[in-house]
Amino acid sequence: MIRDLLYGPWGNGLRAAARFLLDCVYPEGAVCRGCGKISDGTPLCPACRKRLTEEGAGSAWDFTDLEPGLPAYSLRPHDGLPRQLILNLKHRGEACLAEELARLIQPLPAFLTLSPDTVVTWVTMPRRRMRARGIDHGRLLAEAAARELGLPCRQLLNRRNDRSNTQARLNRTAREANLAGVFSPAETIRFPVLLVDDVLTTGTTARRCADALRQGGADDLIVLTYTRSVFQR
Ligand SMILES: [Zn+2]
Repeated sequence: MIRDLLYGPWGNGLRAAARFLLDCVYPEGAVCRGCGKISDGTPLCPACRKRLTEEGAGSAWDFTDLEPGLPAYSLRPHDGLPRQLILNLKHRGEACLAEELARLIQPLPAFLTLSPDTVVTWVTMPRRRMRARGIDHGRLLAEAAARELGLPCRQLLNRRNDRSNTQARLNRTAREANLAGVFSPAETIRFPVLLVDDVLTTGTTARRCADALRQGGADDLIVLTYTRSVFQR
């Protein structure tokens, strides 16, 4: 019933109204964002928090080399509860889920050392998409990761006010063309960079961002995504 109200086929305005009414009845955090049941005042009930930690834990810190000098790690497969929470954050504006997802970062694996001068950043979102969604999920996820890691976080990438489409429905070649020349460095970069994103699919977005960060001077780059999707086109 609560889920129906929050996630029904309403527009943004009606959904916001539904959330406002629910927030009056149940204080924020009283409804679990994972299962929709009454929670204990936190965004996830204890059962969902346990599930989030355990689902796909066998693939935690999954590693891939996107190109020479561009290692990418993913915390979980793009499946089950981790996927659901990312979609809720992204499309339903549930900002509180960034903190929940960022818990998946700890413990850091022994093979990964991040120097303390590392700056965390995110894939800058097109302005019109941010207006449409009302939330910059990439920034929220990067900021949550930075808090978890005790590292600074700031915007290092500018994004041309582009006409790029969302990457989700494009094949690999179209993804490359869609993002050509879109990103540029926001400052001179003389420190290691941790680029955080929600999902790793083909890695095209991360590679284009890495190009721009290198233009700015970066030579020590690591990509970290919350989930990894298997690309099947
Ligand atoms: Zn729950």
